[in-house]
Amino acid sequence: MNRRQLLSNAVAVAAVTLLPVAAATRAAGAEVSVPKVVVLGLDGLMYHKVQQVKAPNLLRLSAEGLLSRSSIAPHITISGPSWATVLTGVWDRKHGIKDNGFDAKPFAKYPTVFTQLERFRPGLKTQSIATWDMIAIMAGSGTPHADVVISTPPVPNDPDEDKTDGASTDAAVTAITRFAPDFLFVCLDQVDFAGHAHGGASDAYLAAVLRIDAQVGRIVAAIDARAKANPAEQWTILVTADHGHTPKGGHGAQSSDETTNFVIARGPDFPAGATTSRYTLVDITPTVLDLHGAPPARDADGVSMRAIPAVEAASVR
Ligand SMILES: [Zn+2]
Repeated sequence: MNRRQLLSNAVAVAAVTLLPVAAATRAAGAEVSVPKVVVLGLDGLMYHKVQQVKAPNLLRLSAEGLLSRSSIAPHITISGPSWATVLTGVWDRKHGIKDNGFDAKPFAKYPTVFTQLERFRPGLKTQSIATWDMIAIMAGSGTPHADVVISTPPVPNDPDEDKTDGASTDAAVTAITRFAPDFLFVCLDQVDFAGHAHGGASDAYLAAVLRIDAQVGRIVAAIDARAKANPAEQWTILVTADHGHTPKGGHGAQSSDETTNFVIARGPDFPAGATTSRYTLVDITPTVLDLHGAPPARDADGVSMRAIPAVEAASVR
């Protein structure tokens, strides 16, 4: 018996010894669980518009998980500052990004969730897929950064960004189905595009909500199919937005339409149908780290949404 065989026997013994404990905390038949987390970032999406248009996939996700609706005031309601907060867990006053003209420097002091996960466990597969090319500056920042960083090239003849978001969705479905990244961030743009072009109160905005909901549905279907075929994988989906839109279109100020924010958390650790106003986009990174068993960042502003108090967990709508 060589050293390798000795080791593998030792691992086998350890696995046999540990299995009953793991099995007791997980569904019967499942092996030691592997956490998988997908964050869907939907630029410019307001949750009350999801309700107004009865977007089926987003409504189903929130019914199957935890829904938090709140305000991000006084945080700056612009994509750069907000996606930086989603991906670091600290507010704008810490990372210092004030608009969409930023570089990778702030992420040296406040590393992204990609960097934090890769430092915690270098073998983790992390990936970013975004329609907005500036996301690549965040996902590609730091040492180590995300393993795979995709900025979807703009698709020609795409007047409402639906085709380019569709290409981002295709890439996400492929990644989930074939490679099952441990952490995947997907960022889609067309709702924000409709808000700027037609206003938050427009029919065009509502139409964009329905189109992006269909893309969310495709990603969720890929995750659920993957999870069914691989019972050891414990998939969690988190959904959030970066800001809202004024009725006439635009954002960056502090009106309730611009600061409105929501988070959906759907997965084995979140009670179905629970609602709260406790969590916002700043809690995404702490939640992702917690789901992977990684320690929280020392200076994080957000907290893990897994810590939802039992009383709120019982508040089924
Ligand atoms: Zn915008």
